[in-house]
Amino acid sequence: MTLPLTADSIWWAGRLHTGAALHPTTALHHPHAAPLSHPGTAALDQPNTAPLHQPNTAPLPQPGAGAFHQTHAAALPQPGTAALPQPNAATSHQHDAAVQPDDAALQPHSAAVTHPDISDFSLATDFSGEATRLPGTLLPGLVDAHVHSALVDLATVRAGGISGVWDLGGEPSTVAALAKDHQRRKMPYIRYAGPFLTAPGGYPSDRAWAPAGSWRELRSPADAVEAVAEAKAHGATLIKVTANAGGPLLSPAIMAAVAGQGLPVVVHAEGPGTVRLALESGAAYLAHTPWTEPLDPGLARDCAARMTWISTLDIHGWGEPTPESVTAVANLRLFRSYGGQVRYGTDLGNGPLPPAVNPREVRLLQSAGLTPNEILQAMTGDGLSWIPGGLDLDPARFADSLATARVLDESVHPAVFPR
Ligand SMILES: [Zn+2]
Repeated sequence: MTLPLTADSIWWAGRLHTGAALHPTTALHHPHAAPLSHPGTAALDQPNTAPLHQPNTAPLPQPGAGAFHQTHAAALPQPGTAALPQPNAATSHQHDAAVQPDDAALQPHSAAVTHPDISDFSLATDFSGEATRLPGTLLPGLVDAHVHSALVDLATVRAGGISGVWDLGGEPSTVAALAKDHQRRKMPYIRYAGPFLTAPGGYPSDRAWAPAGSWRELRSPADAVEAVAEAKAHGATLIKVTANAGGPLLSPAIMAAVAGQGLPVVVHAEGPGTVRLALESGAAYLAHTPWTEPLDPGLARDCAARMTWISTLDIHGWGEPTPESVTAVANLRLFRSYGGQVRYGTDLGNGPLPPAVNPREVRLLQSAGLTPNEILQAMTGDGLSWIPGGLDLDPARFADSLATARVLDESVHPAVFPR
């Protein structure tokens, strides 16, 4: 029988709880059956459609609206959760030899925690009996929603506190093999998008870092349908499309055909007109906060109603302010003022970024107006993270506190105490 997990505090559903525990749920065989008990990703695949912040939003052309409403369902088969976590399944008694017979009942024993996932638990604010107790703060797994697995050492990324990543463009069979093998190789779980879909000669087919097979040219809507089906067959639960105004662009009809296939589409939108093209084609995500020019408020408002943006603010300057980072932060602030949803993502593999929780990205999100709690909502998803020294929600210390996160797994042997 598995025990509840407890810690000095637990960050759950937007706030920090003390005296609470995470109880293994009975839904172990259906880890995603109850998204409401899964605070980290509840908002993740549901672009903000609440009209509250946009009373004047006119209905948009909806070539890809089908994909819009299917995004959550499409995300269900997540390779990262295929192997069911079994906390405490291998309870260890290795320390029992040291326990004196007369005070054995007072001694903690230790418990192995094997790849637990936040979706296997529900929060109980009051609990009794034995629990696996950790110091510090427990929280849903920290997810980087924009990485390139081939360009970064994912085992290092996991050791740096990241429990899950979204691969947004890579050679499909390589990424699929990594995703399958993520536990054995001690990598984050990997959700992935398959190859970059682009116009003939379009970005990134002209870039040295993009190996053969990591991009695929689309010449027609039929091509788009075939490419998405192939990505799905490789296990992709997202589709990446590029729209870089510096080169050939896909037609709106082809973009809409991609978005009409039932997988959420992530668009790399770079340059004039590309954000609108992504929006009107039915894309669910932008891979980057727009950085090339200030966004028109009406466009930002329409994006907020239909899309989630992946942040990637720190790729512009890596800690030094640049015109691009200033523009991106201002665009994100505007998007958020209309209720737009954000996911934390860093574009790992692109430039000198820390292969870990990136405190600079966190600070830039703060500079765009997100509170520590809002940033946690933008970062958390599958898996289970742990901040051994305790999470500090003070805005001045939050980023550095979060950067000490670890992924909770079998390497952690917390004590089991009677309560
Ligand atoms: Zn990228």
